[in-house]
Amino acid sequence: MVFHWAAKLLDVWLALTRPVRDVLAGRGRFRDWWRFLPGDMLGRLVMLGCGIPTPTRVQNVSGVQAVLVEDPRVALWFRAHLIPVQAQTLGRYVLSRDPLPPDTLAHEIEHIRQWERFGPFYLPLYFGWSAVAALRGKRAYWDNGFEVAARDRADRESAADRDGVAAWESAAGTGEDETRLRT
Ligand SMILES: [Zn+2]
Repeated sequence: MVFHWAAKLLDVWLALTRPVRDVLAGRGRFRDWWRFLPGDMLGRLVMLGCGIPTPTRVQNVSGVQAVLVEDPRVALWFRAHLIPVQAQTLGRYVLSRDPLPPDTLAHEIEHIRQWERFGPFYLPLYFGWSAVAALRGKRAYWDNGFEVAARDRADRESAADRDGVAAWESAAGTGEDETRLRT
């Protein structure tokens, strides 16, 4: 009986750590793989827990690898939260009920960078920041520094996209007015 459960646990462990081992077996590009370990495991656990067997797609966005899980079944997990959740990043896993629009993806990509930077300390720091903000009478989510950074990054990137389109169009001699570009 004990062996049976040990074998089951080992199975779960192997399933959860498979992406990490795949990376390790690769070209050693991700020398900081351990920083993603807790987040990736959580992300994978939530994905499997919602009955989703595999991610929708893996995408490289501005040098960051994102594992996108775009599936209505993540609502099961989102419903367990106190605040309404549109998308959520756990390690490199980005969970969303619907296909991610570019600005939301840019926001979540910044959270992947934060996971990379802080590794196992990220979640305690994140919740710590929210707690301190709340204690100071600020808003736990909106005034969390990690969220502020992610919003800034998404704003900057969509501004850069607009500039890029504007520059390309003026170079190509097909100038369009500002309002059109912003739609
Ligand atoms: Zn966020």
